[in-house]
Amino acid sequence: MTMAILEETGASLAASLLTIDLDAIGDNYRLLATLAHPAQCAAVVKADAYGLGARLVAQTLAQQGCDTFFVAHLEEGVELRSVLPSSDIYVLNGLLPSEEAVFNAHHLRPVLNDLGQIERWSQYCSSIADTPLPAAVQMDTGMARLGLPLSEKATLIAQPDLMSGFELALVMSHLACADTPEHPMNQAQQCEFSTAIKHFPNTQASLAASSGIFLGPDWRFDMVRPGACLYGVKPNDLSPNPMAQVINLQGKILQIQNVDTPRTVGYGATHRIGKSTRIATIAAGYADGFLRFLSNLGTAHVGEIALPIIGRVSMDLITVDISKLDGATTPLRPGDFVDLIGPHQDVDTIAADAGTIGYEILTSLGNRYQRRYIGGPTVKITTGAPA
Ligand SMILES: *Cc1c(COP(=O)(O)O)cnc(C)c1O
Repeated sequence: MTMAILEETGASLAASLLTIDLDAIGDNYRLLATLAHPAQCAAVVKADAYGLGARLVAQTLAQQGCDTFFVAHLEEGVELRSVLPSSDIYVLNGLLPSEEAVFNAHHLRPVLNDLGQIERWSQYCSSIADTPLPAAVQMDTGMARLGLPLSEKATLIAQPDLMSGFELALVMSHLACADTPEHPMNQAQQCEFSTAIKHFPNTQASLAASSGIFLGPDWRFDMVRPGACLYGVKPNDLSPNPMAQVINLQGKILQIQNVDTPRTVGYGATHRIGKSTRIATIAAGYADGFLRFLSNLGTAHVGEIALPIIGRVSMDLITVDISKLDGATTPLRPGDFVDLIGPHQDVDTIAADAGTIGYEILTSLGNRYQRRYIGGPTVKITTGAPA
């Protein structure tokens, strides 16, 4: 990696600090690409690269040799095109009526999810282009969410000329239970997909997202489409997480109170203080993706010392019992940071505490943190969401 250039966009007024390690994302891409080889490794950067900043993440991945990207919304594809002039960009959510010209103008590839979309793209392509434009077709094999249901798949196989107007570049499907390797759905979907793609012999095939890559070579076909694992989320519970951690979230202490009379903490008075307690109030709350479910449950860390969150998480603030640190040589003071996500509490751990998955933790982080990017194409310090 070339020497990073420091590019400061002015001092941030945001209190708490979200550090995003682009080099770790690059390392994760290389690990997945090596594992998936000879299948091609694409990257899913929908939802602003799971909240971490689609432009910088995509540029980092492109530098690692990634040349195929997936987004969910057409608008995300248009934005990504401005930083990736020549990569293949697929739009998972499909082709809605009257979007054809936007796809074409930005050289985006629709993932066609039903026969109506196939027909429209075919007609549009025949009407405007001499060379057919590329698209993917998605088959449903067990999600019943997006993709051709069984009956439409049968129609398409019987009438391949429905696709005569465009170039079928990719046939894909999506696994429902890939994070649970022993689940019978994995084998069933693999079989159904293998049978379906025999009808499209000269087309690339893709089934696996992050967790699916770890199911083994039979699930990798010609292309894999990881998202979450690039950003440090674990692929399954079977073995220790092989992915590098990407984010570090540090909450700034706004105030420290010594409470030595019986008192309650926070909304609903859900925590009652009996003995003398020192409370630090931190600048992060559920509006910043620190889920309210973590009330009286989650922990913050100073080094490896776990400090319990007491009282309810409110919109902008959490309260942490820091009494354990009494007598420390350097006592905490307002302006200091505690780790909310870091070396001793990763994204998956906090997700488990909050009764959710790492994906939701990442995509909920919000725009109120000072974001610091390290590594990657450049080092950027920005306030709030990246430009
Ligand atoms: C989100 C998504 C992916 C990426 O999934 P991860 O589990 O984050 O790797 C891949 N394919 C489709 C169709 C998706 O919707």
